[in-house]
Amino acid sequence: MKLLIVEDEIKTGEYLKQGLSEAGFIVDLAHNGLDGHHLAMTETYDLLILDVMLPDVDGWRILKSLREASKEVPVLFLTARDSIDDRVKGLELGADDYLVKPFVFAELLARVRTLLRRGANHTAELNLRIADLELDLARRRVSRGGKRIHLTAKEFALLELMVRRQGEVLPRSLIASQVWDMNFDSDSNVIDVAIRRLRAKIDDDFALKLIQTVRGMGYMIDTPDTT
Ligand code: CA
Repeated sequence: MKLLIVEDEIKTGEYLKQGLSEAGFIVDLAHNGLDGHHLAMTETYDLLILDVMLPDVDGWRILKSLREASKEVPVLFLTARDSIDDRVKGLELGADDYLVKPFVFAELLARVRTLLRRGANHTAELNLRIADLELDLARRRVSRGGKRIHLTAKEFALLELMVRRQGEVLPRSLIASQVWDMNFDSDSNVIDVAIRRLRAKIDDDFALKLIQTVRGMGYMIDTPDTT
């Protein structure tokens, strides 16, 4: 699942991005309202975390634009201010939840998961599936043939990306930017190593192999029926 954080305090933004990435989410971070507004309006996210007080385009403006454009993505507001007025204003504009700074990361993660579960009813799918492999996106769990498989956060993010785009060959460069948030270095074997580990967990014990290597191009997840 892909989240956008708009937060002008560099440390807070980086801390949130790191924590949420470690929890297995794909995270975009904007350090100002203008970039945040642009990303929110042009990209597709499962959830937005908006700081209210931003020096240029504030969190309210971003939320207002989203709702005016009928984008129903769940929005969690971060605010240092805890006045009744702010809460009322945000709720009128269609914020889904609030967190008052300073907060504990575990609390933020719990709120994010709740919003994603709630949001899944009318926005994105809550579960992804291919053949007998199933991903529970809110709980970050994977099972195959009904048997739970334990993945690391990165492995989960990688698998989620591949299942979302099943049947599509994903170049290593795309996987690197989406899952590792890095530019792909062709000397690096990070992606290949991660794919090998993922295969060992989701394919090795099963007759039907889902992960396919497309020589010279990248990797793909697919079932033989649809190739
Ligand atoms: Ca701020």
